[in-house]
Amino acid sequence: MKQAPLARIDLPVDRIPDRWYNVLPDLPRAPDELLDPKSGKPLSQDYLERLLPRALAAQERSLERWISVPDEVAAGYRMWRPTPVYRAHALERELDTPAEIYFKYEGESPSGSHKLNSALAQAYYAKQEGVRRLVTDTGAGQWGTALALAGALMGIEVTVYMVRASYHHKPGRRHLMETFGATVLPSPGEFTNVGRFFLNEDPDHPGSEATAVSEALEVVYSDPESRFAMGAFANHVLLHQTLIGLEAREQLELVDREPDYLVASLGCGSNMGGLALPWVSDKLNGRDLTILAAEPEACPTLTGGEYRWDFADASGTGPLARTYTLGHDFVPPPIHAGGLRYHGAAPLAGLLRAEGLLDAIAYPQNEVFKAGSLFARLTGFLPAPETAHAIRAVIDVAQECKEQGRKATILFCYSGHGLLDLGAYGKFNAGELQDVETMAESLKAASSETGVPA
Ligand SMILES: *Cc1c(COP(=O)(O)O)cnc(C)c1O
Repeated sequence: MKQAPLARIDLPVDRIPDRWYNVLPDLPRAPDELLDPKSGKPLSQDYLERLLPRALAAQERSLERWISVPDEVAAGYRMWRPTPVYRAHALERELDTPAEIYFKYEGESPSGSHKLNSALAQAYYAKQEGVRRLVTDTGAGQWGTALALAGALMGIEVTVYMVRASYHHKPGRRHLMETFGATVLPSPGEFTNVGRFFLNEDPDHPGSEATAVSEALEVVYSDPESRFAMGAFANHVLLHQTLIGLEAREQLELVDREPDYLVASLGCGSNMGGLALPWVSDKLNGRDLTILAAEPEACPTLTGGEYRWDFADASGTGPLARTYTLGHDFVPPPIHAGGLRYHGAAPLAGLLRAEGLLDAIAYPQNEVFKAGSLFARLTGFLPAPETAHAIRAVIDVAQECKEQGRKATILFCYSGHGLLDLGAYGKFNAGELQDVETMAESLKAASSETGVPA
């Protein structure tokens, strides 16, 4: 080993951004407002404030370009930020590519992923406004873990509806959430009307992010002291995640580089947005920059979905959003990248795609785990299955650079570590992972219009 497999680029702690970057004023058009399902009109501020802490409802529509990070949230960020950027020399050598490959390592957060960046802010504002409890949905448990920890740190109760398949088959993160003090319930479950409805339809319902959202919303609407916490969908979540790109930008400047490719996995779009939004206005001003989202073939929101109005939840009671969607009644097969199993992209990610600013590619899970395992052998870092989608896409980009002899700079978001996903790696190692085809039937059924103006 002549050269270290990884080279670390650190920022001093006083360079943690003290403001989040709000892309809304810099976009070619405003994102469509969320619609009230009953009236078909934009959600009233009252409705939003019933759903979310007031400060977050305001951030959702803010047109201020920079929003200050409150001191208490900044103190939380100092537990693990700034996160390092690494140059992956070993992967460059393995691929024999002239491209340079960098990644922003969000696996360093105490909850294991980028999700704590927003969870801390959401728990802070809720506490500040006297909310007693935050209620949320989680797929594989990454978001629930982040919110459970944020709740513990900020002193607020957390209830998590966890996708039933993960609740039973991947209890690791459930135990972690419970250790952080959260109440965790399987979705669909017996404790809400909508949960009982889904179980009645199918007693073996594996659940989805969308069923969990439906249950969490029902509980919030019935309890005036509770508010909803969103892991990804909303503008304010992508806002909080911009720390990722803001820091990474400075780190690349330290080594005199600018990215030609920004790559991230996409479930809803919060780590993609967090990485890429701080560069969107450069791209709009003519910089040659590719932003690439990697998603599972089994839940191909951007590559197989349509840009239209759809419900954010499975029951069709929540707000309507205009974005890329597979249909709110699409139940993705239980693949191992649980964080990528949501039917719709964040409206901001959908808008970037619709405006031609965001490229997308989908991969089957065996290819993804192969890329994740290769990365682990080369660097010692075991990526979350979600993150491994980004790595798989980086391999494609780096190989294309090799064919074109292009010395490009690639930056990807290492959204989380995979140390609680060892069961999935075990299955892959044993050759037992199935590649699930996109369920053509579900897609067809789900693509019927919702009857709302396009
Ligand atoms: C949740 C999650 C994702 C996907 O969610 P986005 O909103 O698209 O970022 C990706 N990676 C990890 C590690 C996650 O926990």
